[in-house]
Amino acid sequence: MGPPGSGKGTQADRLAERVGVTRMSTGDLFRSHQERGTELGRLAEGYMKVGEYVPDDVTVRMVMEWIVAPEQAEGFVLDGFPRTIGQAEALDREAEGIGGIDRVIYMEVPRGELVARLTGRQVCRGCQSPYHVGFAPPAVRDVCDRCGGELYQRDDDKIGVVERRLGVYDQETGPVIDHYRRAGKLIGVDGTGTADDVERALSAATATGPD
Ligand code: AMP
Repeated sequence: MGPPGSGKGTQADRLAERVGVTRMSTGDLFRSHQERGTELGRLAEGYMKVGEYVPDDVTVRMVMEWIVAPEQAEGFVLDGFPRTIGQAEALDREAEGIGGIDRVIYMEVPRGELVARLTGRQVCRGCQSPYHVGFAPPAVRDVCDRCGGELYQRDDDKIGVVERRLGVYDQETGPVIDHYRRAGKLIGVDGTGTADDVERALSAATATGPD
């Protein structure tokens, strides 16, 4: 878990690879539904554009369908879920049958840095690789180094929407952080520095267990 722009997508990818399980990002899943023009995609789009959360019933159904698939039996890393108390309760219930949630990693980054990261972010349309116009630019402007795809700015990374997303995060997701802290599962990780620095901090913290 972590606020928008905390680097949770990048770290979730690396963590999933390191421990040999699959990773699922609810944001990526919603965006892929939108690109395919599904009903779920159309429903989610209206909320995402303005920086609001997609309603719990829709989000929870989508995630639970994914979790129960046989491919996930060995475990998984969730990125961007749960983001509300309702989602956390649904996840805790579902995960009980498969051994429960082991750890919740919470990426901590100061607010000013989040805004700078998000408003300069670009994403590849093809492979979803993230870039930053200032901190991590591609070799050729607007072209993905990995797959040659076109880079674009997400609508919800524009400044007005970024502010709204951070406000919604504080209000809705703040209580979820407290919920997992009380359960003794929360591991705070310093999310500043390079992706490699953060990965090292995250590996060290997960090796020793919750705070
Ligand atoms: P992300 O890619 O994680 O920044 O998510 C982008 C947007 O997708 C969010 O601003 C929400 O509109 C929506 N979204 C992603 N995950 C969730 C979730 N767990 N609950 C509700 N909405 C979500």
